[in-house]
Amino acid sequence: MIPSDILSLTQEELSAFLAAPGEKSFRSLQIFEWLYKKSALSYEAMSSLSKGLRLQLNEQLPFPVLKELQRHASTDGTTKFLWGLSDHEMIETVFIPTEKRATLCISSQAGCKFGCQFCASGIGGWKRNLTTGEIIGQVLRVKAAMAPVAITHIVFMGVGEPFDNYENVMKAVRLLNSETGFNIAARRITLSTCGVVPGIERFAKEGLQVELSVSLHAPNDELRSRLMPVNKKYPLKELMSSCRIYAEETNRQVTFEYILIKDLTTTTKAAEELAGLMQGWLSKVNLIPCNPVDEFAYTPPSREEAFRFKADLEARGIICTMRTPRGRDVSAACGQLRHLVKSSSSGRA
Ligand code: SF4
Repeated sequence: MIPSDILSLTQEELSAFLAAPGEKSFRSLQIFEWLYKKSALSYEAMSSLSKGLRLQLNEQLPFPVLKELQRHASTDGTTKFLWGLSDHEMIETVFIPTEKRATLCISSQAGCKFGCQFCASGIGGWKRNLTTGEIIGQVLRVKAAMAPVAITHIVFMGVGEPFDNYENVMKAVRLLNSETGFNIAARRITLSTCGVVPGIERFAKEGLQVELSVSLHAPNDELRSRLMPVNKKYPLKELMSSCRIYAEETNRQVTFEYILIKDLTTTTKAAEELAGLMQGWLSKVNLIPCNPVDEFAYTPPSREEAFRFKADLEARGIICTMRTPRGRDVSAACGQLRHLVKSSSSGRA
């Protein structure tokens, strides 16, 4: 089936589409250059195409609707975008520049059905999957908005669970990575899952060098099921076994995201249990102090408590890093994304 928007098409699909009206074979490459190298946001901008072809494409393969509803810049340089889609659903995208790189955190679904108990994105429930074009459209629009700063890294850590929208996300990953697409190296693309085991197992067989990040957030089933209902379906034993298979099959390190909640996930016992899950294989832990979300009454640990927990893990031989929160003042940090935006301003942990 031919996708219904231009950004959902691979170059081969576009070539096949253009072959029918008798267009020259180089046209698809020319259009891809307009999209992915010159950041054209409409057919009108594609001045090397005939007017007739532009009109035809506009009618048959329109750009997906991503209307910029709000843009909020944090004092730390992070910028959060709120987009309106064709059916009036809303999604968010966060641009996070640092000295050496610029990361774009993108959404894969409108809303989320997984209901993690620290994440604003799941509060309104799941609305629908994004099309490949709506995923790619976030990158195209932010690239154009932030030029000349180049996007160097992509993380699927915005709203939604990427493995719950598997086909569209995989196609988007290939477009991000392809030479005629955005040409972003696979190792600079990260897929983040809350622990959908069949998705991890399927992903291991894709032959992609993309990074896998797993939201772990608790060191035992009892606490993880409380914080992340997905654990009732895919408990830790199954999850860890699928991650080990992934590391073995791809020879790639798995990153585990772990939320730091005062007196809950940062105890000595928690460090011991977490280290037990990590020992002896290719993995690392990224520690994330929890970010404020009105609906959840969790408190981040003090700096001392957070670094004591990190040292506890390191003493047990675990590689770990501490994430610096970005964009908290515009509710753009991990776990704060939601499609309802507070009037003062405008993911996953
Ligand atoms: S952390 Fe991810 S999977 Fe969990 S509710 Fe938030 S967006 Fe959904």
